[in-house]
Amino acid sequence: IADVPMKTEEVMKAISENTLFTWNPSATAAASSIVMERGEGVYFFDKQGKKYIDFNSQAMCSNLGHTVPQEVIDAVDKQLKTVAYAYPCGLVTEVKAKLSLLMADLMPGDLNHFYYVSGGAEANETAMRMARLKTGRHKILARYRSYHGATLGAMGLTGDPRRWGSEPGASGIVHFMDPFPYTFSWGSTEEEICQKSLQYLREVISYEGGKNIAAIFLEPVTGTNGILKPPAGYLEGVRQICDQHGILMVCDEVMNGFGRTGTMFGFEQANNVIPDIVTMAKGINGAFIPLGAVACRDHVAAHFQKSPIGIGSTYNSHPVTLASAYAALQYFLRTDVLGNVHRMEPILQSLMEDLKKRHPTVKTFRSLGLFGTVELQKNSRGEPFVEFNGPAHPAMAQLKNDMISNGLYTLVRFSSFFTNPPLIINEKELRQGFEILDKCLTNLDKHFEK
Ligand code: PLP
Repeated sequence: IADVPMKTEEVMKAISENTLFTWNPSATAAASSIVMERGEGVYFFDKQGKKYIDFNSQAMCSNLGHTVPQEVIDAVDKQLKTVAYAYPCGLVTEVKAKLSLLMADLMPGDLNHFYYVSGGAEANETAMRMARLKTGRHKILARYRSYHGATLGAMGLTGDPRRWGSEPGASGIVHFMDPFPYTFSWGSTEEEICQKSLQYLREVISYEGGKNIAAIFLEPVTGTNGILKPPAGYLEGVRQICDQHGILMVCDEVMNGFGRTGTMFGFEQANNVIPDIVTMAKGINGAFIPLGAVACRDHVAAHFQKSPIGIGSTYNSHPVTLASAYAALQYFLRTDVLGNVHRMEPILQSLMEDLKKRHPTVKTFRSLGLFGTVELQKNSRGEPFVEFNGPAHPAMAQLKNDMISNGLYTLVRFSSFFTNPPLIINEKELRQGFEILDKCLTNLDKHFEK
């Protein structure tokens, strides 16, 4: 096959005939795909030169946008020219040492020990294994409104319907509800919601047996299940419950981590909560090269100083991806990406408020940092166009099409869409994205039944 430029139709033909897709049937997924030609800042372009503003950072992962910082390119180039690969069993690299020192510096408390893998799911698989080995217990608690990845164990942890296709899956995982059930509320005040949901968690633990539970997994701020920030005191309460029973608290920071929520890590939204284990991926290197990581505290690491984790993979601690992370994190700090998130956060909030004022189909919105979602309604009774995992509604498909034809890319899920742009976005770009959203919602409003 000659390496010559292909026309869009040629790419699409080869993609549909020779590849398979992820979550959707391959035939429909192929037909609706955009052929991405190049990226620049918060934008990407298709083969016809059409420009799209990326309002979801792809999978909430292209946090540094689509232009790879020169220092990341240089670091990867240098790594490829020196040590392109090192077998993690017996060989270590300088870049692994440097990245680990930097990460230990970035993470609060004694989260000082790192294990590098290829993505978020593998990080969660490893964390599950570490928790079981460290505690000698089998059960793991995870929440219904969650996503933790697509491997067997990570799918088992996942609480939302994406898990169903992988069942029967990993054993020993028990799901519980978070402070925001879909069809009812734990209470009318933040305090009541917090207290009731913690009380419920205590009850679940009493049925399962605290001494049987190795870990509680949670996304500190829930991601694709609705950008749900826990009520004040909730993460602190979970930490306390874990301490009481010797359960490890595992925070899945795959989506939250590295500034998305306005703090470096999502668990830093709470007061002085240090999880025992933290899993990461995506923002760790802006997703330029696959990478995931598991961080753990001294007391967890102490166990594995004496006893092996007992698994490993070819790409563990791959020096090229570690070099990309080391350079990307330095870029993140040098250019103060977190400062930009803080500056953009109130602008995003006020743009969301404007949307709600202007469009009857906007039921509510939630956002913190540059992590946002807009929930839509089809009538004044607040009914969604699509229930949680309910049947599709043509208006939502039309909304997605309108976004694409107007040059905005984002995730549309059930009756909501997301506003998670790259963390480097500026005010002008943010406003431009909202102008497109405003236009698309004006069309959607035609479906609103009073
Ligand atoms: N955990 C969370 C919270 C995620 O959002 C994701 C992916 O979207 C994962 C884990 C899985 O990460 P990966 O797709 O890199 O395996």
